[in-house]
Amino acid sequence: MKQYCQCKRVYPGMKYALPCAAKAKVERDGVLYCGRHDPVTLKVARDKREAVRKARDDALRTHLDKLAAARADQARKAALFDELITMGNPQALQLLRKANP
Ligand SMILES: [Zn+2]
Repeated sequence: MKQYCQCKRVYPGMKYALPCAAKAKVERDGVLYCGRHDPVTLKVARDKREAVRKARDDALRTHLDKLAAARADQARKAALFDELITMGNPQALQLLRKANP
């Protein structure tokens, strides 16, 4: 006797859930599943996708934080430069020009 996957899915364009036509490979809590609809397999795949997405988001967040820090540093230097110009301190201005050509 062939046993089939007992998973029912609503596919795009369908109004009703259809049973899966694949043969069952595993039994989870008394329900038969094929390899594609096995909840453990689905969870592993979902966790893997989440890990990839999280790594990508973390890399992007790190990159954006570095850009924000660079912009803040540049704004700080510009403000300091303007302040020195208004002070009219030639020695400090020379030092600043040497430090930031
Ligand atoms: Zn199935």
